[in-house]
Amino acid sequence: MSFNFNHFRFWVNRRIIQSPRLADWVYRGAYHFNWLAALTRDTRAKLFPVPLAEIQNFSKQLLGGQLLIGTTNICNARCTFCAYPRAVDNKTLKTGVMPMATFQKVITERVRDGGASVDLTPVVGDPLIDPGLLDKIKFARQAGIREVCFTTNGILLLHQDMYKHVVDSGVAAMYISIGATDETNYREVYGVNQYAKVINGLHKLLEYNRQQGEPVYINFRFRNAQRPSEILTSDDFIRFIKPYLSKKVEVNFTVDFDNWGGVIRQEELPGHMRLRKPRPEVKIPCFSLFSYAVRFDGSVRLCGCRMQATDMDDLVVGNINHQTMKEIADSEAARKIISGFYSGNRPETCKKCTMYTPITRSWLAQRNAASATAAASAPAATPAPTVAPQPAPAESPLVNK
Ligand code: SF4
Ligand code: SF4
Repeated sequence: MSFNFNHFRFWVNRRIIQSPRLADWVYRGAYHFNWLAALTRDTRAKLFPVPLAEIQNFSKQLLGGQLLIGTTNICNARCTFCAYPRAVDNKTLKTGVMPMATFQKVITERVRDGGASVDLTPVVGDPLIDPGLLDKIKFARQAGIREVCFTTNGILLLHQDMYKHVVDSGVAAMYISIGATDETNYREVYGVNQYAKVINGLHKLLEYNRQQGEPVYINFRFRNAQRPSEILTSDDFIRFIKPYLSKKVEVNFTVDFDNWGGVIRQEELPGHMRLRKPRPEVKIPCFSLFSYAVRFDGSVRLCGCRMQATDMDDLVVGNINHQTMKEIADSEAARKIISGFYSGNRPETCKKCTMYTPITRSWLAQRNAASATAAASAPAATPAPTVAPQPAPAESPLVNK
């Protein structure tokens, strides 16, 4: 009988969720484990460095990695652990929604190059705010993208029965970012009075997904200020989430929070939220530089994870509206940023970022294998289906800043 890691992971996860005290114990220990794991990875990266010469075919790295498409950078929450509310208050973030034509160009190129998946999670923003999201998912699926996923705060799941439409859309996975399972703690972490909408929307989503045979993998990512046991034993978790847990519906807790390039400070985080400790600088590129992210206006950024005051910063290296992704990946601007890491010359957002994770030889081996698989599956020529472009509103009426 062969060992199945996924079954083992599911079994462990299930045991933890069923034993609130065990969950607390694992949660506390995992903070230190993560810290040691990060230090170990840093050491491996320094001892066995991946030289620039081995990664300089950047478009090959692009192909083997995830492509993030942020169809909007507007959000309806004000999370205490996120740079978004600070950027909005300081008026440093220009927001908008991606026109369908821009999305079509990105997807058509992705399919032509052999890419089989896209993640519609923006650096900041909630995908459900984009009124054209369902049409965009439909276009991507029809064009040949096998896996579409995104992360959402779930505030708009009830709006126009969105919970039904996303399940029926062909999305493979949804990651639900949620602060708590009660109104007071939710408001403290997410900064808005939307708890009732969120929990009702999630309950309907789970029920409908089950009725349809669980076509969508749903993962609850608690951004928790409470101990896991407080959430696992809460009335709403037991009533609205626990009955639906399965191999396709999972829960996890955030063990440590990063500082968004130095913007978030420990004293701003409530309850048990803990920031990752800063680590000594390693002169190796961060692996997130190879998760290319397309912004709503077509700008392409080397990191889809973090920003400080704006997502139009010194990590932006091109624009999909007048370049191809391959040209952008192999551009001088991208090369300068990636090679700068080797001499300790990082972009501003990266300088204090505690989400930094160096590339390693094992990362490179995996990335090369994924690139080869994608290249082999690239169609000779892909006639892309068309969807009538929709007007892009400057700002969604659903925003609740
Ligand atoms: S929902 Fe996401 S983008 Fe919006 S404030 Fe929270 S963490 Fe930031
Ligand atoms: S250091 Fe931080 S901001 Fe820079 S690429 Fe890595 S995750 Fe992104």
